[in-house]
Amino acid sequence: MSTKPFNAFEMAQAQFDRVADLLDLDRATRELLRVPMREYHFSIPVRMDDGSVKVFRGFRVQHNDARGPAKGGIRFHPHETIDTVRALATWMTWKCAVVDIPLGGGKGGVICDPHHLSMREQEGICRGWVRQMWRNVGPLTDVPAPDVMTTPQHMLWMLDELETIRGEHLPGFITGKPVHMGGSLGRTEATGYGVIFTLREALKVKGIDIRTCTASIQGFGNVSQYAVRKLHELGGKVVCVSSWDQADQTSYAFFKADGIDADALMGIADKFGGIDKAKAKELGYTVLPGADWIAQEVDILIPAALENQISADTVGRVHEKVKVIVEGANGPTTPEADEVIKQRGIFVVPDFLANAGGVTCSYFEQVQSNMNYYWERDEVLSKLDTKMTAAFHSVYEMAERQKFYMRDAAYAIAINRVAQASRDRGWV
Ligand code: GLU
Repeated sequence: MSTKPFNAFEMAQAQFDRVADLLDLDRATRELLRVPMREYHFSIPVRMDDGSVKVFRGFRVQHNDARGPAKGGIRFHPHETIDTVRALATWMTWKCAVVDIPLGGGKGGVICDPHHLSMREQEGICRGWVRQMWRNVGPLTDVPAPDVMTTPQHMLWMLDELETIRGEHLPGFITGKPVHMGGSLGRTEATGYGVIFTLREALKVKGIDIRTCTASIQGFGNVSQYAVRKLHELGGKVVCVSSWDQADQTSYAFFKADGIDADALMGIADKFGGIDKAKAKELGYTVLPGADWIAQEVDILIPAALENQISADTVGRVHEKVKVIVEGANGPTTPEADEVIKQRGIFVVPDFLANAGGVTCSYFEQVQSNMNYYWERDEVLSKLDTKMTAAFHSVYEMAERQKFYMRDAAYAIAINRVAQASRDRGWV
């Protein structure tokens, strides 16, 4: 058992240092890229429904913007920490670079639990966040988006606040907006679909027929819901998903040998993806402890919840049948677990490649918002497929050519691109 508490930023730096060594990166570039360029910490006072004022802590971290405006989501989470936001901002820089979109990396957060906040109180947090940050965000500087427990409605409140302060329409300020209010068709599906586009390519290069494959997914939020649908569309089968139960404060896994039905489960889930156990049993699901998602006898594992899920403590439970792990979440696998996965020869599509579909579609949304001209859904999704497929193959080719682990290959491409942009600008 590992005893040291998990720190996502230390993990992001350890991953970076490892590849910086492989690339023999110079000292100044290392110093520039291993810490965020800017960070903001602030208080958000909100008048609660009972008349009292509660002060929430908010953050925004801009890790690097050498390739374009900082880009990345805002999370609402009761356990949010600045180091988690730093890690996630850093991963956004690599994510935008690996899919080669002209954006940098940022991330924001608020320590709060939307489960216990009314819509009016949540609106207060969103507007308060923008009141603290409006001088340092915008279509040309830093472009937020949804992330864990934030929604299109939250994005629209943030946009409205910024537009009110600035006195102009700036739909390119934020992405993941509702479709009828400057959002892009395809954005909701984009991350989950992107995960499956990279899985499809991974199975092709491994010579595995997707129609023979079963998968187990951790989480039943936005990423998971659309990953299930896309995998089923391509002929694969998801037999298990796990989800967080708000009432019990614990997670459960839902198993069905002939494949789970995402629509049916969404019908009995709350808006954060928490599935009603009793109703799931009535629909024929076996309800297991949440941690069992990792131990299923399947070909594919897709962690699509939070960071630090495949760790030294849990990796031993991965079934010998598993051939591919596709990381839908950010930072789900720790460096210790990575070593075990490597030794076992399991093929990994690393997080900032696998889940880049969300930000890629955000980029498309921003382009459409800035032009004020919107594309058809098929056009968006086919552009997304093209980007994800090309990114997968450039990483895979680098991995084959240099005999790199897939995560290291993805890092090598991303770091090289950001280092080059920083050099071209004369920063290092
Ligand atoms: N929050 C998502 C991510 O981690 C999307 C970010 C974005 O669209 O800017 O990739």
